[in-house]
Amino acid sequence: MAAVRVVQWGLGAMGSGMARLIDSKNGLQLVGGIDTRPQYVGKPLHEVLGTHTDLGATVTDDPASVLDSSAVDCVVIATTSWVQEQMEDLRTILRAGINCVSIAEEMASPEAASPEEATELDALAKEHGVSIIGTGVNPGLSMDMLVVALTAGCHDVTSIEATRVNDLSPYGPTVMRTQGVGLSEEEFRTGVEDGSVDGHIGFPESAQMISDALGLGIDRIEQKRDPIVSTVRRETPHIIIEPGMVAGCKQTLLGYRAEQVVLTLVHPQQVLPELEGQGTGDYITIHGTPEISMQITPEYAGGTATQGIAVNCIPRIVQASPGLKNMLDIPLPGALMGPSAYTRRV
Ligand code: NAD
Repeated sequence: MAAVRVVQWGLGAMGSGMARLIDSKNGLQLVGGIDTRPQYVGKPLHEVLGTHTDLGATVTDDPASVLDSSAVDCVVIATTSWVQEQMEDLRTILRAGINCVSIAEEMASPEAASPEEATELDALAKEHGVSIIGTGVNPGLSMDMLVVALTAGCHDVTSIEATRVNDLSPYGPTVMRTQGVGLSEEEFRTGVEDGSVDGHIGFPESAQMISDALGLGIDRIEQKRDPIVSTVRRETPHIIIEPGMVAGCKQTLLGYRAEQVVLTLVHPQQVLPELEGQGTGDYITIHGTPEISMQITPEYAGGTATQGIAVNCIPRIVQASPGLKNMLDIPLPGALMGPSAYTRRV
């Protein structure tokens, strides 16, 4: 079995972890790395990754120099959350005739926020005979794919609730800022209004995936972002939160069919929730026949799972028929532990 040759585009917190994971897998070969950070460009890739074996590649900020379809089967891209911002890079990958896995949250179901770009990506992938997918822990796994999987034995589903309680403390300054951590309640609310507090990106995408997969007929969604105000002092390497300051963002989505709520997604993300007696976890309730209740405690570890699912998708997307895919279009990826996982076809 020839190894699948992979270029990692974006060598930040997620991308560098993915690159190391790719390098560790027998059926995958890490052949290049792209990043614009000046301190990385021109350096041997293995040095940037902190690994020992020379990969024979240096980090480049010039994608054209490595995107050769005779030498690369797949690019994994981990640069941004938004389709519009990643679009030019995605075009470059597809036009080079190379398959692509993206962890941009909006790429999980780009039809939700960027329907025109989704159509363009699908057409471009088909034109060049390759496939492209968006994935990650959320969206991509814990609040959509897992939800749909749990309904597989249901006779009917009347409504669904999914909640993910996670701990933001492993994350750095960018996440603290986009989640409004460390702000006053008033600053948080102003930030939501002016767009400087993003909260979770990906709920419309998860709702679209679930609705499409089940034929749930969601015709309207409502989202809200509320501050989680701390009553205790919380401290991480990146931030100190005094009582009264915002420790995170609770995001809620309601999905309606006609005037009835058929989907509720709740995602309170905060620093050190256990300091206020709140454990982390993933909880899914399916109301229907039969009733289903699932919990994973503590949370399905976000960073680790995002790196894992992106890498585990590589053989699936390389083998997929050309076009834009989502996590419910391809055979379910599992951990890549041996040859059968790389060659499974449907
Ligand atoms: P990061 O900021 O640590 O790393 C991003 C890297 O990409 C940086 O090294 C930066 O220099 C590089 N970069 C940015 N734009 C580039 C470009 N056009 N060309 C080359 N390099 C470029 O971020 P991260 O924590 O690794 O996360 C990456 C993205 O993935 C974020 O937007 C994050 O929100 C998203 N994400 C999604 C999920 C999910 O569940 N779908 C999970 C985790 C992260």
